[in-house]
Amino acid sequence: MITRKSSFEIKRMREAGEITARILSRVAQAIKPGITTQELDDLAEAAAREFGVKPAFKGYQGFPASICVSVNDQVVHGIPGPRRLEPGDIVGLDFGVVYQGYYGDAALTVAVGEIAPVHRKLLTVTQESLWKGLAQARAGNRVSDISRAIQEYVEKNGFSVVRDFVGHGIGQAMHEEPQVPNFVDPAWTGFDPVLKPGMTLAIEPMVNAGAVEVKIDRKDRWTVRTVDGSYSAHFEHTVLVTEGEPEVLTKVTTPAGETGGLIQW
Ligand code: MG
Repeated sequence: MITRKSSFEIKRMREAGEITARILSRVAQAIKPGITTQELDDLAEAAAREFGVKPAFKGYQGFPASICVSVNDQVVHGIPGPRRLEPGDIVGLDFGVVYQGYYGDAALTVAVGEIAPVHRKLLTVTQESLWKGLAQARAGNRVSDISRAIQEYVEKNGFSVVRDFVGHGIGQAMHEEPQVPNFVDPAWTGFDPVLKPGMTLAIEPMVNAGAVEVKIDRKDRWTVRTVDGSYSAHFEHTVLVTEGEPEVLTKVTTPAGETGGLIQW
């Protein structure tokens, strides 16, 4: 069942989304050569405490950390640990919160120091593909309009869209109906519903610089990597479908003049 949120619910989702974005922005700004991915998790956890929210991923199906940190060929679901970031790395941060019973979910990928031009392009194209998809999150469109916009843009730029993981509805649960794939595929057997005002979706392209295949780490059973070792990027926003323009919920709405230092994506 796809839920359409009431104005009461939307208000809470706006707050959950804004807190998610603030915490992610803070963690992203801490990224520099030498910092460990565990330190990034500590920052996320401390920030969640400060904002009075629960990190949504911690304990989710046994996930052991507050934030997913996925480096280089890691696509998503990387577990923070002793790894030290180095110049040339790209770091995906995926984070969600629960606030008064409602979820926010967002992700971005950032560079550590100087990175290879192809990886710079990977970050740019993945972020832009998110916005191409977001622009299709309009009442009357179908989910596949979002999927197609993302896939066409990514493939036009020579990269590939991960098939094994998809975006999702979000609200009182982190994962609600419908699934939001980043591709259109005859083999896709999920629903392709018409979008209606009040639906809230987490749109999240995962894009590989090389081939499409990914595998899950057999030891930790979480970390997803590209099979060919190519680097992978991930950007995500939680968005509200309205009568008009889609509303990005995972953004910081600080009054003008007070946004200095914040990363928005
Ligand atoms: Mg998500």
